[in-house]
Amino acid sequence: MNQARVLGVRVDCLDKEAALERIGQLVEAGGRHLVATVNPEFVMRAHVDSEFARVLESADLCLADGSGVVWAARRQGCTLREPVTGVDLIPPLAALCSRRRYRLFLLGAAPGVALDLAWRLRAAHPDLDVAAHSGSPDPSSDDQTVALINQHKPHVLLVAYGHPSQELWIARMGDRLGATVAMGVGGSFDYLTGRVARAPAWMRRAGLEWLFRLIRQPWRIKRMAVLPLYALRVLRTG
Ligand code: UDP
Repeated sequence: MNQARVLGVRVDCLDKEAALERIGQLVEAGGRHLVATVNPEFVMRAHVDSEFARVLESADLCLADGSGVVWAARRQGCTLREPVTGVDLIPPLAALCSRRRYRLFLLGAAPGVALDLAWRLRAAHPDLDVAAHSGSPDPSSDDQTVALINQHKPHVLLVAYGHPSQELWIARMGDRLGATVAMGVGGSFDYLTGRVARAPAWMRRAGLEWLFRLIRQPWRIKRMAVLPLYALRVLRTG
């Protein structure tokens, strides 16, 4: 089983190593590629937002982010061991970029966060060619943002605008964006720079990362209210 359909949204049954290999292949293939990390909130959003659903369908790679998506994909025969999250993928992806001389660009998150992460990644990989820019999707600054990215000509662009903004932004910029692989990474920069604490490993293993997030960031409750409905719908699909 290579692919699952979670409530209609495509999920590729790839673990972290296979995902990294596939991203490397997409870079080598050239052109423009979108990588999405699909979690249950993505799936529920895609149900009410046809544009977001269309963009996810157009992605070259839809990784299973979140234990809720892994659970649903396993019910269809996917042999995924664990979720493939942006946080887990970025450090080995930076190592891959350094090894293969791929240029990396970090876009988004609060002022200073992307630069901080670039600094940390460069400290770990002195050969890594990485640039960063904070900010938000905004028609008044998009031209400037795209110009900054294109100056760097990244092979890999990580966009931390949160979903669905980051995927919609990448799709909207289309061919103007001079990056080979563009991937939405949500709040990953905040975790990797220590600004937001990640759930302890035992909670992640137990599939309880959502609970930790909810306790630490109670404002998420409105967004996470869709999760029980998500579980019910998955169960109903047999
Ligand atoms: N963010 C941003 N610009 C915006 C809105 C959000 O750069 O206009 C950043 C925010 O600082 C955070 C990330 O996008 O780093 C959103 O993280 P969240 O965990 O909410 O995203 P999700 O994983 O749920 O998509």
